[in-house]
Amino acid sequence: MRKLIAGNWKMHGLALQLAQIDAVANAVATSHPPADVLICVPATLIARADSVAAGRIAIGGEDCSAAIEGSMTGDISAEMLKDAGASAVIVGHSERRHLHGETDADVAAKARAAWRGGLLAIVCIGETAEQRAAGQTHEVCNRQIAGSVPHGMNGATTAIAHEPLWAIGTGHTPTAQEIADVQGHIRSCLVAHFGAEGRAVRILYGGSVKPDNAAEILTLPNVDGALVGGASLLAEPFSAIIAAAH
Ligand code: PEP
Repeated sequence: MRKLIAGNWKMHGLALQLAQIDAVANAVATSHPPADVLICVPATLIARADSVAAGRIAIGGEDCSAAIEGSMTGDISAEMLKDAGASAVIVGHSERRHLHGETDADVAAKARAAWRGGLLAIVCIGETAEQRAAGQTHEVCNRQIAGSVPHGMNGATTAIAHEPLWAIGTGHTPTAQEIADVQGHIRSCLVAHFGAEGRAVRILYGGSVKPDNAAEILTLPNVDGALVGGASLLAEPFSAIIAAAH
């Protein structure tokens, strides 16, 4: 399975930072890594980022509305993201689940909207530190898959990102064994819920992926790529993570 290395800029980035997109795209165009490369940026930057990327890497959004259009001030549909140049969108990131109260049902509706708009849906799941300490990681992942990943999912339209909440932006990562265990569990859940399609879906790991741990993480079984926050903001560390995807 070809790996997917996806950046998530979150609420960072002005026009000045488009130079980072150009630098990553240059690195990809010259080194031809055996991975798909995507940078998800704030909606304000999608059209310009797509123009700078010029097909060398893909550009995505960080969230979308479940609706196509309507009286929903400030919301942005999947069709609008696609129209601006996006080919993918993150849905159900833990920051949206926790800061904006998004439920599994909301996330599933957004994933369906992404498909409707012709975008790859990157559906995020992940346990809190408390759930991990209580031994509930497997149960939480299974519940979030059942609730957030709609029927009809397949490997071309969907990727899953497992991001332990306690690892996001903290510099702490699970051990290699823990990552392999949870990614393997997620694979089993996907096969149980979606049959053969569950084997074809990329399962990304996210949470403090950096140049110095990327090679180890990306060679673990059922790690089909990475979702990278902080280290995707600058071309140098992000390009180093992409280069580790061999
Ligand atoms: C994220 O927010 O999706 C993420 C993984 O962030 P970081 O890499 O900074 O932990």
